[in-house]
Order: sequence, then structure tokens, then C-alpha cells
Amino acid sequence: MFIGALEAGGTKMVCSIGSPQGSVLQRASFPTASPEVTVPQIVDFISKFNVDALGIGSFGPLDLNPDSPGYGSITLSPKLGWQGYPLLRELEDRLGVPAAIDTDVNAAALAEYQMGAGKGLSSLLYVTVGTGIGGGLIIGGEPVHGLVHPELGHMLLAPQEGDPMPDGMCPFHRHCLEGLASGPAIEKRWGLSAKLMTQDHPAWELEAAYLAQMCANMIVTVSPEIIVLGGGVMQQAHLFPRIRERTLELLGGYVASEKITPEGIASYIVPPALGVNSGVTGALLLGARALRQAQGETPKP
Ligand code: ADP
Ligand code: ZN
Repeated sequence: MFIGALEAGGTKMVCSIGSPQGSVLQRASFPTASPEVTVPQIVDFISKFNVDALGIGSFGPLDLNPDSPGYGSITLSPKLGWQGYPLLRELEDRLGVPAAIDTDVNAAALAEYQMGAGKGLSSLLYVTVGTGIGGGLIIGGEPVHGLVHPELGHMLLAPQEGDPMPDGMCPFHRHCLEGLASGPAIEKRWGLSAKLMTQDHPAWELEAAYLAQMCANMIVTVSPEIIVLGGGVMQQAHLFPRIRERTLELLGGYVASEKITPEGIASYIVPPALGVNSGVTGALLLGARALRQAQGETPKP
């Protein structure tokens, strides 16, 4: 049995064919042009394989309210043609198989929860730090949607003293996490490619300070059992010990858990166990869920 997976991103659409258990057999990638150009490419590729279902992890914001007429649409996008585009419905109709959609980060969170760093736990936070910053949250085995879906990248932070770009660069908010700490924010602030910065560059202490604020805020609001940090910027592995240390400092000994100690935190704020495959694995798992639901398994409340 094959499942189709679409990782829908602002620059590219990655289509994969895999198993319901999350292993990938085939992959193809198309640039994100207009829906008129790109959607037929996606459909052509996936329909070559006899898939039984499709899972989509998409950039957002998305309409994830099953009672809404726009369920499965992209709600807000600066990319021409994608604003309001009914991605789920179009792909489900054109491929003729059951499909499920969630945010790219909820998909990655689901994969890490079921098969990676969160195995055996009941909650997990996954945050990607790349071109943008997004967070996916699993609680009690289910991706959290709530009012819309979490928009953790736009959490407001306290600008650090001495930050040469304390307002950040988000067009919507002053000093939000994404505006201050995404890859492009680092590069704009320092005028240098993040990949080329040495470990002693002041950019990294600042980056760790902002990511630690996010971790501390999430620990005191949601209390996830593990925090997984992925994305291009987190390729800088030296950020992990700095973020852990600063998170402990910010929490000031207040949170009574063995995980929130100098010894425990190394296994609490961690890189993705599935590496760069969290996203695709999550989309495959969403596809498998769509299939189970179509086969009559009652969805969890
Ligand atoms: P996307 O978010 O577009 O899906 P990535 O997660 O790879 O893709 O994020 C790309 C961003 O991450 C770029 O802004 C780049 O500056 C930054 N980045 C990628 N690789 C590295 C690296 N090795 N070190 C630091 N920053 C990186
Ligand atoms: Zn913002």
C-alpha cells in the first residue's frame, strides 16, 4: 500500500510516495509557482503511483476548522494565487483519494511524537527555525488546532539589550520571535550569511537568548514533555547547550521537574530524532490517518 505525502512550502512543493508507517520510496520537488502551474505537477507525479491516501503538511496560515466551508484552504499568503486556495479539496478531488491536511509543523510534531524524540510521551512541542519560525504541538496524541492553529513564530518577546535590530523584521509585529530570530532576521541584523558565521559570532548568543525566551514561555504555558528544535538555523548544534542554559536561567528554578535541571535539560530540549525527515514522515502519517478515517474508524473526539 502506498501513501502520498505533500510538504507544501513557500518556495517548493516536495511530493513523496511512502508507506503508512512513514518510510519514503520516491520523491519529487516542484517550485511553488502559481496553483495553476504547480498543482497539476503535484497531481501528475502522485497519480503515477497507486496511492490510497494523501497527507499534506502545509505552510500557513491554514483553515483547519472542519466545519468551515474553507476547510483545508490557505488563508493568508503573499504568494500570488495561493491566498484562499482550497489545497485539501483540490488535491482530494483531483487524486480521488482521502486526504488530510495540517500545518507543516504539526505534521513534523506528529512524526517526532509517534516515531522520534517523543515516543512514549503524551505531549511534544516541535519548533522549526528556518526561513520562518513555526511551532507544532501535540497533546494527548493529537495535533493542537484550537481557535485557528498555534502561531508560535509570532510570540512576542522582550528585545535583548544591545540587539542592533530590537524590533525585528516581521511585517505584522514588532519584536516577535520570527522577526527577531529566523534565518533571514539573523542575516539582516548582521549583514552576513548565517551559514558563514563562526561559533563565536555575537549572533549566536542573541539567537540562543530569543529561542530560550520561547522555550521558557512554552514551558510555563503548555508544559510540553519535550521540546524539539529543528530547521536550518538549528544546524548550528552549538546553539543547543546555549539555549538550554539560558532557558534554565529564565525559569529561575521555578518549574519543579527533573527535566528542568542542568542534568535533565539535555534530554528535554533536543534536535529532531528523525533529522530532516520529520516533515515527510508526518505527512505520510497524516495520509495514513485519512485512510483509517475513510475506512470508518471513528475519529477521536
Ligand atoms: P525553510 O525554512 O525555507 O523550509 P530551512 O529550515 O533550511 O528551510 O531554513 C533556511 C534558513 O535557515 C535560511 O535563512 C538560512 O539562513 C538558515 N540556515 C540554513 N542552514 C544553516 C546553517 N547550517 N547554519 C545557520 N543557518 C542556516
Ligand atoms: Zn510576527
